[in-house]
Amino acid sequence: MSGGAEKDRVPRTIDEFMALALAMETAAAERYADLADTMQAHNNTDTAELFRRMATIELRHAREIQSQIGGADAVAAARRWEGVDAAAAESAPNEDLHYLMLPWHALRIALANERRAERFFAQLAEQATSDAVREAALRLCAEEREHVRLIEAWLARLPAPHSDWAEDPDPPRYTD
Ligand code: ZN
Repeated sequence: MSGGAEKDRVPRTIDEFMALALAMETAAAERYADLADTMQAHNNTDTAELFRRMATIELRHAREIQSQIGGADAVAAARRWEGVDAAAAESAPNEDLHYLMLPWHALRIALANERRAERFFAQLAEQATSDAVREAALRLCAEEREHVRLIEAWLARLPAPHSDWAEDPDPPRYTD
């Protein structure tokens, strides 16, 4: 076998590709659900609600992909992509989180995620070694672009936050 870093692996078959896509969408849905829980724990209901809507969208996406996958070959292919770091391609980084963050911030994070996912599938389409994989990658790329447009439309309806958004009039108190 000619070596190459694991991260450079490109799915060769449509089953492998769909398994990778499923792993990505599932990870994205879980990540958004986690973000929603985190915001809810801080009583940041509006932002929690927004992340929950994103989780629902990604979960629906994952189910669609799942319904297109069938048979033992696909299951075997999926197993090969388990734990692949590409699953992080659509997931939000932690450092952007703040417990007072507004829906606007949540949307900025989601926008970055969806753009990353769009680029990821566009790149896979370029690297694809079969027409089936290329077409599936292009289709998912287009779906991620839809997510990008949706979020851009949401963002357009929200005013940019004031510079003092992170100042808590009633900060959490800790006793020791
Ligand atoms: Zn997406």
